[in-house]
Amino acid sequence: GRSVHQIQSGQVIVDLQSVCKELVENSIDAGATSIEVRFKNNGLDAIEVQDNGSGIAPDDYETIALKHYTSKLATYDDLSSLQTFGFRGEALSSLSALSNFHIVTARAADGPKGTKLEFEQSGKLKGTSVVAAKQGTTVAVETLFYNLPVRRKELEKNIKREYSKVLQLLNAYACISVGIKFSVSNQVPKGKKTIAFSTNANPTTRDNISNVYGAKTIGALIPLSLEFELDPSNRPGATQNARNWSTQEDSGSHIVKIVGHISRPVVGEGRQTPDRQMFFVNSRPCNLPQVAKAFNEAYKSFNFTQSPFVFADIKLDTNAYDVNVSPDKRMIMLHDQTALLERLKESLLELFEGHDQ
Ligand code: ADP
Ligand code: MG
Repeated sequence: GRSVHQIQSGQVIVDLQSVCKELVENSIDAGATSIEVRFKNNGLDAIEVQDNGSGIAPDDYETIALKHYTSKLATYDDLSSLQTFGFRGEALSSLSALSNFHIVTARAADGPKGTKLEFEQSGKLKGTSVVAAKQGTTVAVETLFYNLPVRRKELEKNIKREYSKVLQLLNAYACISVGIKFSVSNQVPKGKKTIAFSTNANPTTRDNISNVYGAKTIGALIPLSLEFELDPSNRPGATQNARNWSTQEDSGSHIVKIVGHISRPVVGEGRQTPDRQMFFVNSRPCNLPQVAKAFNEAYKSFNFTQSPFVFADIKLDTNAYDVNVSPDKRMIMLHDQTALLERLKESLLELFEGHDQ
């Protein structure tokens, strides 16, 4: 029979993309300046994420993969802050339930030696052994969903699509993560290894985009920099939560800044690049279909390039949205979405006026 643990674990780890997301976020949280993601057979055989971050302290070995263990949640207040990506202690626990998984970790103080950690399905530490390792942590996830035959079949069937979804997310992390060197590769069965992309620890997002998408893409971009203040008082259909936000004294700023890079508006150039749209809230990759729609419609209304390249980081007060909408935290609820979309559209039209031909 399937344990409750297995079933619940399915909620944070739902596909290949969520595995990568959780592991990359852990590496970022650990202060890594270099992150290497290695797929084997598009991720069907293995996904390994290696970083040069802090490593794991020996005191944490026993608890690291137990449900709800986290070393990151200091106070309740942290829940609304995005200083670290993780805070629920579910990823490693889920992975131990849903894959053959092990960790190799080494801290600077340990010299050239690291520790390999192996776990039982429950997340209980099964054993440790000494291995050669550089500072940092490697998490290896093998045969994801091996113990859930239906899910495994589904994954095998859709692997091409799953893999390209993962790459899109990794592109987004690589582009937004200034100061982190990313490298992504895929080892396919006949021994051929393809490098999806590799960046240096670049000083700007523009450089990162150039590394990931090519210098030609960069040539076709203009900087995006919008700023406006929302008036949350006349918001139609505001939720209780949103009303609280507008009335609380310590509710923070209502200033929204949107920074990034977008396709230079050119009339009639109908190149379709829908996979080249990345949205972030306070530098964290998010699914924001309504925001994407606003960009696409603004281009369309001027007869500009359809499905433009968009890299947009929405900077707003942490009280202005809720990240705990979906277990994988990629969906975000913007409390003042209607007003934000309106102002965004206005600002884009203003920006494009100058480019009208
Ligand atoms: P969370 O990120 O919510 O704390 P996880 O299950 O993702 O929960 O990770 C559990 C704990 O394992 C983290 O709190 C952290 O202490 C440790 N950990 C996980 N990945 C890494 C890593 N790459 N480097 C250092 N520590 C890590
Ligand atoms: Mg985590």
